[in-house]
Amino acid sequence: MNYASIDHGINELHQVEIPERWLDARDEPQADTAPAFIQDVVAVMNRQEGDSLPVSTMVKYGLEDGTWPAGTSQYEKRGAAVEVPAWDASKCIQCNKCSLVCPHAAIRPVLLDSAEEAAKPTGFETVPARGMNGKYTYRIQVSPYDCTGCGSCVNVCLAKETAIAMRPLESQVKEAENWTYAVETVAIKQDAISDKNVKASQFAKPYFEFSGACAGCGETPYIKLVTQLFGDRMYITNASGCSSAYGGSTPSSPYCTDKRGRGPAWAMSLFEDNAEYAYGYLLGQDAIQRQLREKVQILLDRNEAAAACRDYLEKGTDAKESRAVSDALLAALEGSVSEEADFIRQNREYLTKKSVWAYDIGYGGLDHVLASGKDINVLVLDTEMYSNTGGQSSKSTAAGAIAKFSAGGKEVKKKDLGLMAMSYGYVYVAQVAMGADPNQTLRAIREAEAYPGPSIVICYCPCIEHGMKASMGLSQLGEEGGGVRLLAEGKNPFTLDSKAPTGDFQKFLLGENRYASLQLAFPEKAQELYEKAERDAKERLESYLRLAEK
Ligand code: SF4
Ligand code: SF4
Repeated sequence: MNYASIDHGINELHQVEIPERWLDARDEPQADTAPAFIQDVVAVMNRQEGDSLPVSTMVKYGLEDGTWPAGTSQYEKRGAAVEVPAWDASKCIQCNKCSLVCPHAAIRPVLLDSAEEAAKPTGFETVPARGMNGKYTYRIQVSPYDCTGCGSCVNVCLAKETAIAMRPLESQVKEAENWTYAVETVAIKQDAISDKNVKASQFAKPYFEFSGACAGCGETPYIKLVTQLFGDRMYITNASGCSSAYGGSTPSSPYCTDKRGRGPAWAMSLFEDNAEYAYGYLLGQDAIQRQLREKVQILLDRNEAAAACRDYLEKGTDAKESRAVSDALLAALEGSVSEEADFIRQNREYLTKKSVWAYDIGYGGLDHVLASGKDINVLVLDTEMYSNTGGQSSKSTAAGAIAKFSAGGKEVKKKDLGLMAMSYGYVYVAQVAMGADPNQTLRAIREAEAYPGPSIVICYCPCIEHGMKASMGLSQLGEEGGGVRLLAEGKNPFTLDSKAPTGDFQKFLLGENRYASLQLAFPEKAQELYEKAERDAKERLESYLRLAEK
């Protein structure tokens, strides 16, 4: 079939006449409403003309210290999809699952109040929002030019007859105007947001959008969800890997800010020291926050802004309260002239409780940081291989899987990072698979962040390199995987969230080319390794069950 397809390529070649006048073709100048930085720097670099930028431009935009403005990816509007989802309001059950799994934050639930409803553009169809007592109307909005056409949203749709279907991009371009209204004019409804269930979590703004990740990426939905929960007070250090490639491919910056200018601070490090890099953030913040509390205490002792100081000292480290008490303290100190008030104003960004996350590979540093006992969170995006460098085998690759450097199938079992971290006894450990159980994923991330010590959340991420036969979109559903993935949540006491596996393990393996192709090349060895992989998985489950019984 491959040979035939190559022959077809040759046979189907035909000459295309290029009009002579195209020799002098020029782009029509278009009115650009993007901010000056996007026009002067980002657009120039995206045209591959970055070498022409003078140093003075870098200085003009404050880039000389290595920082880069957030949220530049929203101006790319690549229009990469051939087909994009179209929403059918009459069938939608308003579960928001489509938004949860979208790797690119290109589909979102929108709630409108009566004023926004009255001002909406024509064709902006809405329905009464369920469970909101008539307060809001509801709509699922797609950004046609940011969608990559992966189909994950359609595959995951819970409506009996799917409430979204893929349609040609040309038929959906009108949605671009609706998208602008939905994200720029319609306000986020804070009273609808909660971290207690998946539906309510999706009304929050994603502080990670339109990254350059592959269509259907299994990593980015986790990152997006974490930013929806903690994005306005997040500090992220990112090891080199896929997550750094799509997280900060200059000039594209998918980590963005809200209307108040708040959003995650992101930086990249080499993978061998990334966890320590996050640890450095934490120690630096700790030192400044200690000084801030000392200054607030001095003000309180002098009876200056006493109520606000007392509130800050009491609730400043509480994730839910710290923003309000910090704002109140700053307001109470307005116009106050003292060394302490000056220090507090200069370090205002450190007043609130921070959420420090390392996206990590590199076990040495990770182990060091987990052992520290400090309040740091680690998100492991486990694709079971080195995805960004072309799918090389790693210690996370399971027995029987083909990857580069294990072309004959990996012969030894997958490292159990969760069990290793659990051995400390004071680390919060969770293993999650969003496709199999989104609610458990949400709960584990929420608990990890709230735990006042080191936490690690190991996320199973389907990857294009796995060769999903059922499509990347279906892999996110994880229906087959739900039976065999082991979901453990290491708390004190240990709890095992996943039900006993019921699926056919080997059938699940054969749904992915990384396992199935071994059968074609080395059938006998393949069978031997599949059985080993199944034994490994059972042993792993048994060790979790023993822990759960303790
Ligand atoms: S097709 Fe993929 S990228 Fe497009 S909206 Fe759906 S999940 Fe998002
Ligand atoms: S997944 Fe389907 S039913 Fe659920 S909100 Fe999206 S379109 Fe509606």
